[in-house]
Amino acid sequence: MRTAEIRQKFLHFFEGKDHQIVASSPLVPGNDPTIMFTVAGMVQFKDVFLGFEKRGYTRATTSQKCLRAGGKHNDLENVGYTARHHTFFEMLGNFSFGDYFKRDAITYAWEFLTSPQWLNLPKEKLMVTVYASDDEAYDIWHKTVGLPAEKIVRIGDNKGAPYASDNFWTMGDTGPCGPCTEIFYDHGPDVAGGPPGSPDEDGDRFMEIWNNVFMQFNRDEAGVLHPLPKPSVDTGMGLERLSTVLQGVKSNYETDILASLVKAAARETGVAYTQDQPSLKVIADHIRACAFLVADGVLPSNEGRGYVLRRIVRRAVRHGYKLGQKGLFFHKLVADLASAMGDAYPQLIEGQARITAALKAEEEQFARTLDIGMALLEKSLEGGKRTLDGKTAFTLHSTYGFPIDLTADICRERELELDMAGYEKELAEEQERGRAAGKFNAAANVEYNGNDTIFEGYVANSCEARVLALYKDG
Ligand code: ATP
Ligand code: MG
Ligand code: MG
Ligand code: MG
Repeated sequence: MRTAEIRQKFLHFFEGKDHQIVASSPLVPGNDPTIMFTVAGMVQFKDVFLGFEKRGYTRATTSQKCLRAGGKHNDLENVGYTARHHTFFEMLGNFSFGDYFKRDAITYAWEFLTSPQWLNLPKEKLMVTVYASDDEAYDIWHKTVGLPAEKIVRIGDNKGAPYASDNFWTMGDTGPCGPCTEIFYDHGPDVAGGPPGSPDEDGDRFMEIWNNVFMQFNRDEAGVLHPLPKPSVDTGMGLERLSTVLQGVKSNYETDILASLVKAAARETGVAYTQDQPSLKVIADHIRACAFLVADGVLPSNEGRGYVLRRIVRRAVRHGYKLGQKGLFFHKLVADLASAMGDAYPQLIEGQARITAALKAEEEQFARTLDIGMALLEKSLEGGKRTLDGKTAFTLHSTYGFPIDLTADICRERELELDMAGYEKELAEEQERGRAAGKFNAAANVEYNGNDTIFEGYVANSCEARVLALYKDG
């Protein structure tokens, strides 16, 4: 079953249960300073959960564009390392705004996944977790659905009050939250990893596919939980993960849309297509994040959301460079993405020229300094050093436009230490010099003041600009 068909099936299933199909909202949340990006399907309904906004429906279903590349939900460092995490992904969701609660949520989910008319997944491949003290959810799974006790894991340490663990979902530091129950698919013993709740649960074997959150609280800035006006339901299922299950593969990158992008990445970097090259997967992931960000109005810059975009583009370009592609390639993948996802997201087709141009400009800018930056990095490691010193990391950042997380990515793949303390010291000194010289507007790098503090970019901006000017003048 192709991803496009799975998306439609999900929406139709819930439409049949009286849910209103609602379009995805943009990756940039409207008017919400508490989060940088849309990290889940519930974000566009936050005010409905809180009771501030009324809609003409109490049940909704969506396929939502999500980005987890900053703040509380950040999977950037997982990309290239797991088979199931992306920066950009689509989240299928069904929502109840004070309408149904635990029983219907759980039985709907189970029906969709296992009924022969719908996905017909083998029940023995599925297991679930519930919040440790949530006997109600436990009993629904055990008695109503009939799941055996060994397939239901209680998760939670019960140290905090009233809820304080993994099976307690929160949007950000503040906002709607509640205990949850999650459904996992077992890829079988060929894949490394243990069941949820076990020490090696972080592997790819037991893949979390669907989270059903019982929205009951609003968490305030002091961390205090206030009951919501009405208990509600918010669910999220990764479309790419569901495609993995239904297409009978073991990695999201082998599913229709992503495999086509891995192939395109291989073509544009001039290497043979393989699923065993993490850099190709990183590029396939990052083109989606970058193209959708530009489509939703973000442009590369040195602060806030624009700096997240800049970092993702540069990471992708560096992975291409690692594969031997020294020329421009990344922006060319926009066309492949538009053909893979343009039907579902016409904005990719309408905006194709603009998205391509924006990514190309960023790619060109970084291409001018990447090569000499890499040479500097190699030089600093001469003699078999296993640590990248802070001064070099800072020069890479300030003079060659290497965001520190990009440098950390290089160190991680080569198993090198990165002297972060040394880097931060250099950065602080540069900022001090800048302040002393009165050159910088202190506000310039903190456009955004929610919980997504990111690396300062203005140092890179100024120095990089000087370097680029030198290059221009020959
Ligand atoms: P994980 O534990 O695998 O990191 P999560 O618990 O952080 O996932 P939730 O916040 O519960 O994820 O999101 C709901 C669903 O969205 C998940 O069950 C999963 O199917 C999907 N999902 C979450 N993060 C990602 C991601 N980075 N890439 C692809 N799908 C994701
Ligand atoms: Mg996660
Ligand atoms: Mg999880
Ligand atoms: Mg989860």
